[in-house]
Amino acid sequence: MAPTHVLRCCQRGLAWIPVIFIALVVCWSYYAYVVELCIYTIPCIGEKIIYMVVFHLSFVMFVWSYWKTIFTRPAKPSKEFSLAKAEKEQYVREERPETQQEILWRAATNLPLYTRTGAGVIRYCDRCQVIKPDRCHHCSACDMCVLKMDHHCPWVNNCVGFSNYKFFILFLCYSLIYCLFIAATVLQYFIKFWTNELPDTHAKFHVLFLFFVAAMFCISILSLFSYHLWLVGKNRSTIEAFRAPVFRTGSDKNGFSLGFRKNIGQVFGDQKKFWLLPIFTSQGDGVTFPARLVNVDPEQPTVSLQPEAKIMSQNNVQDKEEHADHVTEHQNQNPIQSAETVTVSMETESLRGEETSHLI
Ligand SMILES: [Zn+2]
Ligand SMILES: [Zn+2]
Repeated sequence: MAPTHVLRCCQRGLAWIPVIFIALVVCWSYYAYVVELCIYTIPCIGEKIIYMVVFHLSFVMFVWSYWKTIFTRPAKPSKEFSLAKAEKEQYVREERPETQQEILWRAATNLPLYTRTGAGVIRYCDRCQVIKPDRCHHCSACDMCVLKMDHHCPWVNNCVGFSNYKFFILFLCYSLIYCLFIAATVLQYFIKFWTNELPDTHAKFHVLFLFFVAAMFCISILSLFSYHLWLVGKNRSTIEAFRAPVFRTGSDKNGFSLGFRKNIGQVFGDQKKFWLLPIFTSQGDGVTFPARLVNVDPEQPTVSLQPEAKIMSQNNVQDKEEHADHVTEHQNQNPIQSAETVTVSMETESLRGEETSHLI
């Protein structure tokens, strides 16, 4: 076996340590709560039953959403975003960045691309050899391009992106509920053990640790959960919160925002009855996103929304340009028609093949 292969296998194995750690803590918390607290410590039968029912409900939802976040494979760009074999060879052979960009522009003619690199050129991943769709980023941990990548999370050993973002939010939500419920119900027994109102048995240590661990996780999850709720409300990924997406009209941190209600719908779907279930209901295909219309006239900085504005074919874009020259969508541009393209492609290639792996 080649040393690099062994190293990669070791890395893959080690990446599961945080997940195993969380799984062990959850298993212990289950034992400590159900056996040591409910069965051995709580004297009242009614209280036992209520606690057990609520505990198991939150436990099942928590484990379900955690499982789905871990084992849902990140979505990657479809084959239409890969260069054809001949183009790929030409791209690799070509040393001049401007000619490479011309190859990309040609390949991207019919692709729904509205975002660019900071230099205004087509976003291309050298590692995966694909043109990156909007909101797609390369994850160095997963070694692949991930659609609507949010971040790579070591606690789930997976990339959080288009395919599992809803699951991730629910995982945070249910883990918060799980920890809050444990902390709230254990508190009185925690105090009783502390003030020696309960016999000094081995349950004492489980209850004490249960409270500390639940309270500690509560604080850390609450901050992360609030942050992600805010991101959902803005229709922004963590990566986009740090670095605003760049459109033809320039960078715009609210480029994908459609208004609060519709932003929620983008992640959770239209039907409210599925919002709290870890079932995939996010809108779209992860490649095209409803694009906001941005007024390019600096004298009139009003912004209008067109949530239904989806990808347009090249012809449609041209038609639209003729009829709506005061308002521009993030358009797919043909390089040969655009002088702007040639200019920006000369600037810098440093942002090409940007590699992202956010650890949160
Ligand atoms: Zn890639
Ligand atoms: Zn990843």
